[in-house]
Amino acid sequence: MREPTDQPNIILINCDDLGYGDLGCYGSEVNATPFLDRMAAEGMRFTDFYIASPVCSPSRGAMLTGCYPPRIGFGSFEGKWVLFPGQGVGLAPEEITVATLLKERGYATMNIGKWHCGDQPEFLPTRHGFDHYFGIPFSNDMGRHQNREKQFPPLPLLHDEEVAEEQPEQEGLTERYVEHAIRFVRQNQAKPFFLYLAHMHVHRPILVSRRFAERAQNGRYGAAVECIDWAAGALFHELRELGLDKNTLVVFTSDNGSRGDLGGSNGALRGGKGTTWEGGQRLPFIAWWPGRIPAGQTCGELTTSMDFLPTLAGLAGGRAPDDRILDGKDIQPLLMGEPGASSPHDAFFFYIRNNLEAVRCGKWKLHVFKTGWSDEGKSMLELYDLEADIGETNDVSAQHPDVVAELQAKLQACREDIGDERTGVAGANVRPIGKVDNPQPLTQFDPNCPYMWAEYDTEEVG
Ligand code: MG
Repeated sequence: MREPTDQPNIILINCDDLGYGDLGCYGSEVNATPFLDRMAAEGMRFTDFYIASPVCSPSRGAMLTGCYPPRIGFGSFEGKWVLFPGQGVGLAPEEITVATLLKERGYATMNIGKWHCGDQPEFLPTRHGFDHYFGIPFSNDMGRHQNREKQFPPLPLLHDEEVAEEQPEQEGLTERYVEHAIRFVRQNQAKPFFLYLAHMHVHRPILVSRRFAERAQNGRYGAAVECIDWAAGALFHELRELGLDKNTLVVFTSDNGSRGDLGGSNGALRGGKGTTWEGGQRLPFIAWWPGRIPAGQTCGELTTSMDFLPTLAGLAGGRAPDDRILDGKDIQPLLMGEPGASSPHDAFFFYIRNNLEAVRCGKWKLHVFKTGWSDEGKSMLELYDLEADIGETNDVSAQHPDVVAELQAKLQACREDIGDERTGVAGANVRPIGKVDNPQPLTQFDPNCPYMWAEYDTEEVG
């Protein structure tokens, strides 16, 4: 029997497009999330946690490598905001993920759900430290949909590196993810394991099984949130049944903010998915490890998803690679509730594509650029005091020219480090995205095949 302080099992739950205000423990009054609320009551809830991009691929690449997206070539993908099926670029084989580090420390590793760091063989989870993979390798709307102008090849469901199904039924897919997750936990209960469960929900199209749809008070969106909550509850139940709850760290977060429609919420935050306003990148982060992480605590220190790699590597008895620059910091002192522990970050930088848009330092946030979904963006200069004005409604740049100047200097240092396309600054410390020749999509559309799911169900995308 392993001691609770030995290498802990680690379960990292990452949602898709779940916003800051979508959970009961973050203020939602329309979504019932009892299991995640209990997780927060028994663990630590972070209020000032940021993911490194307001869209999927760069957010995920940054979380897995501990680096800002532009540092690993994940600012843009041949000019696109995220990766699309069959592209010849992805997470470079030379990059080291948290899964690779944990695997080196003897962990059994599995990724279930959305990957979105490249769909060519060289870029798949199984080439980036995961023993096994089961899931849709990109977004659940990147397949066939009725009436959609731009069609993709049929949506693949991968098992390791093989296409197990095309256009899988999505309503019950999360239940299948949980089934695979529990099987993995049971099979590996005698040794440390790392499970990265990357939910399909609440990305569009939102297709949820009937039991959630019937009881949710907040439409299909609420049903998807409650399905995520149920999945967490199933895992907690399993950990307790197996007696693993004292030596398992569970982390819960999301890859970017909610779009803010269909019932989604970023709480009091401005903006949402695809923006560098707080609603795009400030997200729920809950950490649970009974006996190690103090129960019922709230942490308001600035933390980021890039901190997961050095922190989890440290907990596993390893350390972050020292042959390259990482942006994440080890936040164990904050996680363990050490008295006086404070954020290891001087500042946090906000990028869309390769454009540096904003910086947060202490309570201040300075915006210098904004990109719209369909435009090239525009310059701006607005300063907000997030302590007094979490909703970024009152620009105080005129009252605090000294703060503006200080933050401008931090932005310039960041530009010189990892670049800023719109000001023409090339970063000195960036690494290239992975590239392959002659990329092939994982599936081919067959006009004679009666694909039963999604193509005929919905035109909801994005
Ligand atoms: Mg997303």
